[in-house]
Amino acid sequence: MARKIGSRYTANQILGRGSAGTVWLGEGPEGPVAIKLLREDLASDQELVGRFVQERTALLGLEHPRIVTVRDLVVDGNDLALVMDLVRGTDLRTRLERERRLAPEAAVAIVADVADALAAAHAAGVVHRDVKPENVLLDMQGPLGPGGAHPALLTDFGVAKLIDSPKRTRATKIIGTPDYLAPEIVEGLPPRAAVDIYALATVLYELLAGFTPFGGGHPGAVLRRHVTETVVPLPGIPEELWQLLVQCLAKAPASRLRASELAARLREQLPTLAGLPPLEVDEPGPAEDEAEEPAPAAAPEGEPVRRRGAVSLVPGARPDSNRDTHTSMRVPAPDELAGGAHGTARVPRAAGAPRPGSARHRAAVRRRRVTLGVAGVLVAAAVGVGAWFASADGEDQAPQDTHSTSAP
Ligand code: ADP
Repeated sequence: MARKIGSRYTANQILGRGSAGTVWLGEGPEGPVAIKLLREDLASDQELVGRFVQERTALLGLEHPRIVTVRDLVVDGNDLALVMDLVRGTDLRTRLERERRLAPEAAVAIVADVADALAAAHAAGVVHRDVKPENVLLDMQGPLGPGGAHPALLTDFGVAKLIDSPKRTRATKIIGTPDYLAPEIVEGLPPRAAVDIYALATVLYELLAGFTPFGGGHPGAVLRRHVTETVVPLPGIPEELWQLLVQCLAKAPASRLRASELAARLREQLPTLAGLPPLEVDEPGPAEDEAEEPAPAAAPEGEPVRRRGAVSLVPGARPDSNRDTHTSMRVPAPDELAGGAHGTARVPRAAGAPRPGSARHRAAVRRRRVTLGVAGVLVAAAVGVGAWFASADGEDQAPQDTHSTSAP
């Protein structure tokens, strides 16, 4: 069921479906391509189409062996399409779901590739803003690298920029995937290059542990943890690698490494990681605000609290799936960010609120689940995945969008 896309491309076969549309295996004048065809409702959004055309140069400007190049943008009748390099392989989320945890050498080799991609983008003034395993494609036809890792390429550049224009997004809203959001974004600061380093360090932690450092439970709780919690050490992780992770997960953006330094430091460590098996890490318990039963007592002094795994906003969806965790949220007020006792994610119980474990509490949890389910569906529908759309409810906000500035 081939279909024409503009005058130059033919879409032949569906490769996959994303939140914003469908990715096709296509053919262009220079050979095979991947064509991301936007959903009809997005393609009929005149403002988005306008930005699509306006951003053409920035989107097409990024070329690097570790970046999935956008070759063309097509606006044709009802069709709105991004024509990209074809990557024959899978995305990193799929590999992680299959293997649960990666051996340190392979994880570090993949993350070093993505750091190279970020270094090139940052040098061109582009901040990605949505680094996560779903946006890393593994080229199965490329040569095997350290730890048997295929070359990794970063995709969906410029997508966040398209949806997150000052006109379309209130300055008080956050676009991103909660598990990977840097604390400065939660606090309402403009996203600079260091947000990508934080997100990439989160990805590295996730590849090693099988879960993200601050994920799990209500998205608001996830955001709070980014600001207030310290990352829990991973048992058995080589000390040097841990230090690198901690530095790149620093709350202060200026303390994080730059992308090129991160790539170099990761590669330096590769020889010492050769042959190490995946870490043995306990599965995280359920998130507090998902639990029917009373939350467990805090860990005894000196013992790490077990980390929660990421959960989806939409019941039944894959945990941590890009479309279901991608959200646009109000920036919490400073007092909301202050967090519970000992800087954990626990929310202090308000006067009159039910005690955890009580019948009233369980009923409230059930009610909240229904609400979250509905809200999650609305978020997925209205805010969207892959950062293609945002609620257009503000025209007069100050720009918070600092990426894609000097690309040719
Ligand atoms: P999402 O919106 O969830 O990020 P995408 O729309 O980007 O998903 O991609 C949907 C599917 O198409 C994914 O499974 C991905 O593996 C595949 N895909 C995306 N881009 C490419 C590409 N350039 N080459 C090959 N496959 C791709």
